[in-house]
Amino acid sequence: MVRSRDLDSPYQAAIERSLTTIESEKMAKAHYACPECGQSILVIGQNRKDADRRADRYEKTGRVCADCERKQRQTDYRAAAAANREAGLAPIQSGSDAQILWAEWLRHHALKDLVAAVAIVAGETDYPEEIHDAETQRLAQNANRLVRALGPDAEASRALLAIAKKQLSASWWIDMRGGDIGDLASSLKQHVREALRPVPPPEVETATILQPPQPTVLIADLSWRNGVLVAKLEEKNEGFIQAMRILGYSWSAPLWQRTPFAGEPADLLAESAHHLLASGFAVRLHDPAARAKALSGAFEREGLRWITGGTTTHAGRLVVTWPRHDDFYDAARSLPGSRYRDKRVSVPAARFEEVLDFAETHGFRVHKSALILIDKIRAQLAAGGVIDVPLGNAEPVIVNLPEKPPALTPVVTDIDPDLVD
Ligand SMILES: [Zn+2]
Repeated sequence: MVRSRDLDSPYQAAIERSLTTIESEKMAKAHYACPECGQSILVIGQNRKDADRRADRYEKTGRVCADCERKQRQTDYRAAAAANREAGLAPIQSGSDAQILWAEWLRHHALKDLVAAVAIVAGETDYPEEIHDAETQRLAQNANRLVRALGPDAEASRALLAIAKKQLSASWWIDMRGGDIGDLASSLKQHVREALRPVPPPEVETATILQPPQPTVLIADLSWRNGVLVAKLEEKNEGFIQAMRILGYSWSAPLWQRTPFAGEPADLLAESAHHLLASGFAVRLHDPAARAKALSGAFEREGLRWITGGTTTHAGRLVVTWPRHDDFYDAARSLPGSRYRDKRVSVPAARFEEVLDFAETHGFRVHKSALILIDKIRAQLAAGGVIDVPLGNAEPVIVNLPEKPPALTPVVTDIDPDLVD
């Protein structure tokens, strides 16, 4: 029995399995030398003739050994990452080193196909009416998938490309790997719609500045843009940064931004303004209703502790979100089946009873998206059906087939309490 030198090698694992089969089914072995490093490569056949024929074919086609193939793959991944840098793409930001490298490669190929498809949809490239070769056929198919997902709209296709270029999460690209351009377009469709939404005309109402009890020249601008709270102070100020973090905003140069979970714009603006005024900053607010509410303090508080229905890597799970100045990590992780991924703690939706108890105990609000998910699970339980969402905290199984990239170690990241997007 050949002992595997490298348990990570899918080839070695496959060989070991085959050797077991040889022993039980009298299969035959043959060898040939790796054209790259000369190492002897074992080939398994149904019988003597078959094994020899396979070894001969692999040798003629120059098939390399598992070690050399792994090296080639790593070289390919690094070349793809370098090409991405050259194309001006920002590096992938979240994920382990191995995941990031793999994701750079996946992104390189996906974007290359997307660029070609967008050019066809935008009429910048013609492809022949008669499809002559497999590559032309593939490009035409990609363009058709793009049209099916977004319509024959060059502007939407270009917006999709711009958005896809900004996806910097390794897990996002890894999750997309099995899909085609149509799947990629569908998963970003909502972002494309938002990007194409017309910008409302500027308000004619003049800005009014609210001053705290001690008037100041430090004036924060607060506004509402397409569902996002936006804040800005013209000079760098530690107190302002702290206030922004407490309010759950994140820095997205050149502005602070926060996508709220719920609430009316006037209330949300008033809540932020009220806090900034209390922290000693003046606030410029265009919305008169928000100004009135900020002054009177009679606004609906949104709150920053939320249970939401998960999407993407948290699909089918309830996501627990809290603001930077709270720490519910240990409490949330003690929920059954809890998992920490992409800077978020999530719990299988089937554990909604425990999650609702947790929410009540710690003053978390339950978002509409979570209620929808819980209703679905309840209905499934009542119908005695099988729950079709992943349970527990098992990592997805990555099958090690020889032509696929190697299994990856799970992401280990420090908890970043900046949990609000
Ligand atoms: Zn080799």
